[in-house]
Amino acid sequence: MIATGIGWDVHRLVPGRPLVLGGVTVPSELGLAGHSDADVLTHAVIDALLGAIGAGDIGEHFPDTDERWRDADSLELLRHVDALLAERGAAVVNVDATIMLERPKLLDHRPAMRENLADVLALAPDRVNVKATRGEGVGFVGRVEGAAALAIATVELPGVAA
Ligand code: MG
Repeated sequence: MIATGIGWDVHRLVPGRPLVLGGVTVPSELGLAGHSDADVLTHAVIDALLGAIGAGDIGEHFPDTDERWRDADSLELLRHVDALLAERGAAVVNVDATIMLERPKLLDHRPAMRENLADVLALAPDRVNVKATRGEGVGFVGRVEGAAALAIATVELPGVAA
C-alpha cells in the first residue's frame, strides 16, 4: 500500500540564533527561534513522514516541554522517526519539500540539505527534493518575521494479506 503525508511548520526569525535548515547551518543575520534547533525544514519532513504512517505529529513525539529536546539537533529527531517507520515496516518512496524564506538565498545550500535528510532516511539524495521560495515582500515570510516549510512524503506500507 502507498500512503502519503503532509507536514507544515513555521518558526520566527530572530537575532542571535543559528539558521539551521535540513541540518545545514546557513550563514544569516537572523536565525530561527524554537525549543530545538528550530530546523523548520526537518520539522515539516518529520510531520509528513508521521502523517504517512498515521502516527500523529512532531509535538506528540517530541514535546517542547521536554528538556531532552532543548536545542536538539532535528536530524536526531528525524532519526527517531526513521526508526518508527522501520518498526511499522514502512519504506520511504520519496520526500518533497519547499522552504519559504525571504533571505538569504538557499540555492547553494540545498544539495547539502538533501544529502543530510536522505542520509538519515537511507535514501538516494534524488529521492529527497528540497525547493525554496521567497515571500515577495508579502506576509510573515516576505516581512522577514519567520520562515515556513511544507513537505509531502510518500511511503510504502506492508499490504494486508487477502
Ligand atoms: Mg517546528
